Amino acid sequence: MPKVGVLALQGAWARHAEVLSALGAHTVAVRGAQDLSGLDAIVLPGGESTTISMLLESSGLFDPLAACLAGGMAVLGTCAGMILLAAEVMDGRPDQRCFGAVDIAVRRNAFGRQVDSFETELAVPALGTGAFPAVFISAPTVERAGAAVDVLAEVDGRAVLCRQGPALAAAFHPELSHDLRLHELFLAGV
Ligand code: GLN
Repeated sequence: MPKVGVLALQGAWARHAEVLSALGAHTVAVRGAQDLSGLDAIVLPGGESTTISMLLESSGLFDPLAACLAGGMAVLGTCAGMILLAAEVMDGRPDQRCFGAVDIAVRRNAFGRQVDSFETELAVPALGTGAFPAVFISAPTVERAGAAVDVLAEVDGRAVLCRQGPALAAAFHPELSHDLRLHELFLAGV
């Protein structure tokens, strides 16, 4: 049974933990550096990336988590989590930090603000033939993806699901659709 952490400082982490448990993972809510020990993988949830970045620093988690990711720990980042995994953040706070685990530049809130949140049926060949119901909430757009990045899905020609090695980054909230395939893909790489 893989031991999968879910970063639980702020945001939409609880439903990720439920989905991962339903798929047979042992899940751990990560709030401090001590919670990283023995993890096989981690989820960075949606929420507010500026707030999560601040809390990662004040909790002392930023550097140890960065070391885990640099060491190749499998990670799934969704929405704000995608922003945290990026190499460059546009329209962020000047002091906002990111891990650079996926060589993408993202622009915050570029699909619109809360009122512009939407759901769409996404073609994701890596998940098989059926469309994936993807929920976007004040989502970031990917403005640039480096050569090492696999784009697994797009909306209107813009990347919304990216993979680089053990890191998966989604602009949407897969934990909110009743479709477990993206979490299964993540666990298959653990
Ligand atoms: N707009 C948020 C941010 O920039 C992300 C929104 C989300 O995670 N649903 O952090």
